[in-house]
Amino acid sequence: MPQKTKHTPMMEQYFSIKADYPDAFLFYRLGDFYELFYDDAEQVSQLLELTLTSRNKNADDPIPMCGVPHHAAANYIDTLIEKGYKVAVCEQVEDPKTTKGMVKREVVQLVTPGTRVASGEVASRENNYLTAVTFIEENKQYSFSYADLSTGEIKVSLLETVDDIINECESLQTKEIVIGSSIDTGLEEKLDQHNIVISKHEVAEKPVAQMSHLVVHLENEALKTGAKTLISYLQVTQKRNLDHLQQAISYQSDHFLKMDYYSKYNLELAKSIRTGEKKGTLLWLLDETNTAMGARLLKQWLDRPLVQEKQIVTRQNMVESLLNAYFERMDLKDRLKKVYDLERLAGRVAFGTVNGRDLIQLKTSLNQVPGIRQVLEGINQGEWDELLVDLVPAFELVEMIDASINEDAPLAITEGNVIKDGYNEQLDVYRDAMRNGKQWIAELEAKERKETGIKTLKIKFNRVFGYFIEITKSNIDLLPEGRYERKQTLANAERYITPELKEIETLILESEEKSQELEYQLFLSVREEVKKEIDFLQKLAKSIASLDVLKSFADISESYHYVRPELVSHKHELELIEGRHPVVEKVLGQQEYVPNSVLMDEETSILLITGPNMSGKSTYMRQLALTVIMAQIGCFVPCEKAVLPIFDQIFTRIGASDDLISGQSTFMVEMMEANQALSYATPRSLILFDEIGRGTATYDGMALAQAIIEYIHKNVKAKTLFSTHYHEITVLEEELSGLKNIHVGAVEKDGEVVFLHKMMTGPADKSYGVHVAKLAGLPDDLLERASDILVHLEAKTTDVTIESIKEQPIQQDVVEETEQLSLFGGLSESETTVLTELKELSLLEMTPMD
Ligand code: ADP
Repeated sequence: MPQKTKHTPMMEQYFSIKADYPDAFLFYRLGDFYELFYDDAEQVSQLLELTLTSRNKNADDPIPMCGVPHHAAANYIDTLIEKGYKVAVCEQVEDPKTTKGMVKREVVQLVTPGTRVASGEVASRENNYLTAVTFIEENKQYSFSYADLSTGEIKVSLLETVDDIINECESLQTKEIVIGSSIDTGLEEKLDQHNIVISKHEVAEKPVAQMSHLVVHLENEALKTGAKTLISYLQVTQKRNLDHLQQAISYQSDHFLKMDYYSKYNLELAKSIRTGEKKGTLLWLLDETNTAMGARLLKQWLDRPLVQEKQIVTRQNMVESLLNAYFERMDLKDRLKKVYDLERLAGRVAFGTVNGRDLIQLKTSLNQVPGIRQVLEGINQGEWDELLVDLVPAFELVEMIDASINEDAPLAITEGNVIKDGYNEQLDVYRDAMRNGKQWIAELEAKERKETGIKTLKIKFNRVFGYFIEITKSNIDLLPEGRYERKQTLANAERYITPELKEIETLILESEEKSQELEYQLFLSVREEVKKEIDFLQKLAKSIASLDVLKSFADISESYHYVRPELVSHKHELELIEGRHPVVEKVLGQQEYVPNSVLMDEETSILLITGPNMSGKSTYMRQLALTVIMAQIGCFVPCEKAVLPIFDQIFTRIGASDDLISGQSTFMVEMMEANQALSYATPRSLILFDEIGRGTATYDGMALAQAIIEYIHKNVKAKTLFSTHYHEITVLEEELSGLKNIHVGAVEKDGEVVFLHKMMTGPADKSYGVHVAKLAGLPDDLLERASDILVHLEAKTTDVTIESIKEQPIQQDVVEETEQLSLFGGLSESETTVLTELKELSLLEMTPMD
C-alpha cells in the first residue's frame, strides 16, 4: 500500500476514500474508466483477467493499476460479487467541465453479495437475502433478521442457538451476514464453513432513527435491535433512497414446520443433490407459477410449511375453488402472464432507477387487476375475501401513466421520446419546432433560391457552424448586398448565415435541448407520483403472488391427480392410501410408479422397513415426507386418500454415502443427526431414519439401531419410518406394541429377483443381496460361491439373534468374537483370510476402482 512518498492530489484523494473501505475493492472513477490501484489492482487483475499496468511508470515506485470501462463495469462488478467480494463504487460527483482543480469524488454505493440486485430471468425467480444477527445479552438470545433489498421485505426473529442461525442462513441461502457487536467466534467459524460472507457492522443511530417507522411496531427491543442492524447496514452501503423498505415482520420459527437444512437438502426440496440445480426437486415439480413474484413466494412457502390448521385449510379452500373452476383458472393464467415483477418495480421506483419501459410494464400489469378481481369475485364463496382486500385496481395510476408515458419508451430517460404528445403544452411546442424545423429549412431554401436566382444554393448543417447557406464560388456575384454574413470560405464555395436562418436555427436547436430537459423533468414528476404508491403496489404484489402460487397448486393437482388431504389435529394417526413420490412419479411416468400406502394408527409410532437394496425403501420414506410438506403448504397430495396429522418437525437421516460435511466421518454425521432427532423430536414430529448404523461394524450398528428404535418407542413417540437391512431387528415387533414390520415385496422369477416396489406387512424373509449382485452382472462362479456361503451362514446365525445381544452388555470385543465364530466356522484358512479382508473393507470410503 501507500509509501511515505509524496503523492499527487488525486492519489491523496484516493487514499482518503480507500481508508473507509478496507474490505472492498475501490472502483475509482477516472473519466470513462473505473481504476483500481495497489493491492486492489493486483487482486482484481487476476480475478477478472485484466492487464495489470501502472500509473507513472517511470517513477521510482510506480503504482500498480488496472481498470474497466465504466459502461461495462456492471458485469465486472457482478463477477466479483459472485466470487464473494465487495465493491465500493466511487464516482465523480462534480462536473469536471465546471470544476476548477480536483473533481470531488464519493463512494455512491457499496455492492456486497447480500445487497446485489441482480437482473435476469433466473435471478428474478429467486430472492437474494441479506441476513443480520446480533447477540442480545439480557435474553441470551440472537436477534436474527433478513431482507431482500430488491423487494424491500424485512423479517426478524429471535433464535436460541448457533445451529438455529446456520439453519436459517442455509434455508434462506444467504450469501452475506451482517454481524452486530459481540458475537462468539464459534459462529463466525461455522459461517465461514458454509461460505457465508461476514460483514461486521456497528449500528449508526442517526440514519436508523429516520427509518424508525419500519421497526416501531415490533414487540420488543431485542427484535428491534436485529432489524436495526440490518437497516443501518443497508443505509450505509446503499446511500440511496430506500423508501420501498417494508415494515419489519417478526416471525417465530415454531409457527412453521421445522426442518433443518440438512433435511431440506436430503429431501431435495429446492436443490437436487446430484446436480445442485432446481430440476428434479419438489420446487421444480410445484412451480407452474406465471410471475416472478409467485415463483419467489412458492420457494418461501416451501421453506416454511405451516403448522396451524386454520391457515392450511384456508389455502386448501382456495386451491379447491380454483381446481373446480377450469375456465376461470385458464383466464387467470393468461392475465397473470401479463403481470410483471411489481415488487421489484416498486424497488426500482424507490432507487430512482425505473425507466419509461418499466412504467409501461407497470401499466400493463395494473391493467390486469380489474379482470383478475372479477374472475375471483365470480368464484368467491368467502375463501378469497382476505386476498381480495389488497387486490384492488389502481385506475388513477394507470390513467396517469397512460397519459404521460410513450408505449415504446426507450431505456434511457434523458434522451427524449419518453413522454407522450399532448401531455404537456410546452413540450408540444418544442416538439412542433423540432418536427417542423426540417420543413422550415426546406421552405427557406426554396425562397432563397427564388430570390437570388441561384439554383445550386443549399442550406446545410454541421456541428461547428450549425445551419448555413452554401453558394459555389461561381455564383457569388449573384448575391445581393447586406443580408448575407460570411461565415466560412472553402476552396470552391462560401458559407453564409442570415438573420432569418439564425432565428430558425435557434428555435430548432433550443427546442431539442429544452424538450429533452423538460421530458426528463416530467418523467421525474411522474416517477414521484408512482413513488407515493409504493406501499399499495407492494400489497398488491403480495396478493398476486399468493394467487399465482395457489393457481400453480391447482394446476399441478389437476395434472397429476392429487387429492385434498384431510387434516386431523386432535389425533395423531396417519392414513395415506396408495401414495406416490411426486417427483419420481413425474420422472418415471404414472404407469411405471407403484403406489404404496402408509398406515399408522394412534398407537403405532414406528414402521420398521426391511427389504433389499434398490427395492424402494428410501423412496417410500421420502414419499411420506414430501406428502406431509405438500399438505402443510396447502397443496393437494399424490395419493388416493390422505388423512394426516399436522407435524411440527421433520427429521431425516437418509442416504449415507453422499455426506460431504468436511472433516467428519459419515458415521459421526449419522450419529449427530440421530441425536438431533432424539433430542428435539416430539410426539408430533416425523422421523425418517434410513439404514441407521450401517456406517459402522455390523453388530455395533445393529445394536445402535435397536437401541435407537427402543428409545424412540419409549421416550420420543414420534411417527418414525426406520429402514434397515439388519433383519434380526424385526423380532422387536413382538415386544414393542407401537412397532410394525413392513417389507418391500420381491418375487423370484426364473432364479432372478424382480422388485415389486410394493410394501407388504411383516418382515422381509430373505436377503436378496446376492440377486442384486447378479443384476449388477458379477461373475457366475462368484455368485454361486456367495449362495453357498449364504446357506451356510443362515444355518449358523441363530446364535446371534436380537435376544442374545439383548442379554449381554454390548461390548465391542465380545461381539466381535461372536461374529468371527459365527461367520467363519467351517471355512478353509484361505477363505477365512479373504473373507476377513473383505469384511474389514470400508465400502463407504472406497472408489469403484478400489
Ligand atoms: P432402497 O432405498 O431400497 O435402496 P430406493 O428407494 O433408492 O431403494 O429405490 C431404488 C429405485 O427404485 C429408485 O431409483 C426408483 O427409481 C425405483 N423405485 C423405488 N420405488 C418405486 C416405486 N414405488 N415405483 C417404481 N419405482 C420405484
